[in-house]
Amino acid sequence: MPSALSYESMPSDILKTPIEFLKGVGPQKAELLKKELQIFCFEDLLHFYPFRYIDKSRFYHIREITEDMPYVQIKGYISNLQTYGHKRTTRMTALLTDETGQTLELIWFNGFRFIKEMLKPGVEYIVFGKPTLYGRKFNIAHPEIEAAGTGAITQQSTMHPAYSSTEKLKTRGLDSKGINRLLRNLIPQVKDYVNETLPEYLREELKLPTLRQSLINIHFPESAATLSRARARLKFEELFYIQLELLKLKHVRTSESKGHIFKTVGAYFNNFYHNYLSFELTSAQKRVIKEIRTDTLGGKQMNRLLQGDVGSGKTIVALMTMLIAIDNGFQACLMAPTEVLANQHYESLSEMLKKMNLNVSLLTGSTRKAQRNTIHKMLREGELHILIGTHALIEDTVIFHNLGMVVIDEQHRFGVAQRARLWKKNIISPHVLVMTATPIPRTLAMTLYGDLDVSVIDELPPGRKPIKTIHQYDTNRLKVFGFMRDQIKQGRQIYVVYPIIRESEKLDLKDLQDGYESIVRAFPLPEFAVSIVHGQMKPADKDYEMQRFVRGETQIMVATTVIEVGINVPNASVMVIESAQRFGLSQLHQLRGRVGRGADQSWCVLMTDFKLSADAKKRIETMVRTNDGFEIAETDMKLRGPGDIHGTQQSGILDLKIANIIQDEKILKYARGKAADILEKDPELRLPENHIIASTLRAKRKSKVTWSKIS
Ligand code: ADP
Ligand code: MG
Repeated sequence: MPSALSYESMPSDILKTPIEFLKGVGPQKAELLKKELQIFCFEDLLHFYPFRYIDKSRFYHIREITEDMPYVQIKGYISNLQTYGHKRTTRMTALLTDETGQTLELIWFNGFRFIKEMLKPGVEYIVFGKPTLYGRKFNIAHPEIEAAGTGAITQQSTMHPAYSSTEKLKTRGLDSKGINRLLRNLIPQVKDYVNETLPEYLREELKLPTLRQSLINIHFPESAATLSRARARLKFEELFYIQLELLKLKHVRTSESKGHIFKTVGAYFNNFYHNYLSFELTSAQKRVIKEIRTDTLGGKQMNRLLQGDVGSGKTIVALMTMLIAIDNGFQACLMAPTEVLANQHYESLSEMLKKMNLNVSLLTGSTRKAQRNTIHKMLREGELHILIGTHALIEDTVIFHNLGMVVIDEQHRFGVAQRARLWKKNIISPHVLVMTATPIPRTLAMTLYGDLDVSVIDELPPGRKPIKTIHQYDTNRLKVFGFMRDQIKQGRQIYVVYPIIRESEKLDLKDLQDGYESIVRAFPLPEFAVSIVHGQMKPADKDYEMQRFVRGETQIMVATTVIEVGINVPNASVMVIESAQRFGLSQLHQLRGRVGRGADQSWCVLMTDFKLSADAKKRIETMVRTNDGFEIAETDMKLRGPGDIHGTQQSGILDLKIANIIQDEKILKYARGKAADILEKDPELRLPENHIIASTLRAKRKSKVTWSKIS
């Protein structure tokens, strides 16, 4: 078998040495390391960072212990050593008493003789381990124990790394300590071959240690202080290169891709604004229109993300943006993720524009062939001003005469590739406005949409009554039905939503059908009519049911989350969410946003059973407490972690090794600022001092293909 030594002749390759050649690994452990932790070579192990450090300089009193502590270290005396049970059920316990006189049970399931011999009465010990709650008292199973004052622990660094491992690895001796042992073998061998990835001027300016020092310290901290600097350096590096990549993308867009120049705001815009806009724009809407105006004057392609809470009035901004395009002789299109939404946009926009000599058409999957041909022809000849539709808009047969503005509603339903296809239809890319009602926390937006410009509508139209949200247990359903009946008698309509997380789940569908039947029983014809909509229905049936509700022919809409996005029925004033504990926060917020669109007081009723997890409780509480989409998004991100936020999973951009965009917001902003400064001075990264940056970026790009696909 070749040994690691054979790689010494190629020092630059030593980091790529297959992991089985590391002392202490061998073929079997290597297989497991690859399978379980994706560690294939020396470099992978070197960058397998501890997920936590245990501070062995901190001692706790027993009364300070809480359930969520991963470990504690306590000083005290050990007494009452006892053995119970027979053979395989034997266990041994002892009592640890700290200086305050409180006690805690220690427990072992094997190794009794060794423990009995080791423990001496009257000696003060340091006990270390994970506390578990047993009944109403804490105990520690198999604690680490050593006599106090021997200094065995404190002589070394006080920060001990903990690595995540798996059951399979643990049975092969590769628990956290085992992994640390491997690193002890690895680091001396490779440390001289670690190439620096940040230029010296940047490290000096930010007082960051070298990559080599950082890697050594991340695995074997000399002290809490050096560890913290090492972590800061690695986090900065990680975020810096992501931001650099994003900003480079943006730079390419703004410097190389030309954009149409909309010279004037002309007759259509002004006519609409002065004669047909039936309300005053909010100042947030005005601000966003100004931002868009500035973008479309500069000769660069606009690529703007418009965030605004549900009901904040994004559609009107989209419309006025399209009017500016038309004023300048261009066509515009508005793309929605579903047929229902496209229909709805078409109806409301045609209504608003009906007195304005403009041609507006709708193109979806169900547009008839003859109609479709007419649309294609009018588009090509430039007669059609605004085209509204679904994915059907990006079919190859759809050719615009001169598309100047693309608005995409509810962004995360569209793939990046789909957007790119739209842009490719013209020599000069149209301006793009992407609208999303799912508020994204700022730091997340910076990472996910780092190459887009962001506008925010942070204000609701005046006169809206805030939606009142209440939590009810299932046992109160009759009361809720009574309330619903009341509202319907006042002329209102109601949604009742069931969680079908995956539409294939038969069990859930049964919930929906049961619910539907009980509602039909409680709200009988002819006084009441009930619609039902779910994802397993044929699109035409779904549409039919939806339209009946929209037209007010039914009073109750029983549905799954298919109604989540964008539906606008101002007369609907109550949203009842069944099994609300099973929805994520942003989903609950989206659902709630379906009501509160008219002048009447609206309600959201969250139904749950009594068994609620801590997270579910927090979600319900948050919903009851606030209507603020951004606050909800922040809470959601904290509860679920950024990787789980709707629509971000596929992007790969959040597979961060060490940085955390929630906790490391400051570093993130700093990294973005630095990346921007550097690119401003040296957009192509050609200056000698930036060579390291250019080559590191190339190397990272190679290993992380996903980056280029984000926007
Ligand atoms: P969303 O941002 O969720 O897409 P919409 O654009 O559908 O919101 O707007 C919701 C409702 O608010 C619509 O009925 C719209 O006409 C109305 N609206 C929008 N802007 C204003 C405003 N400035 N003043 C009053 N009503 C407004
Ligand atoms: Mg909308």
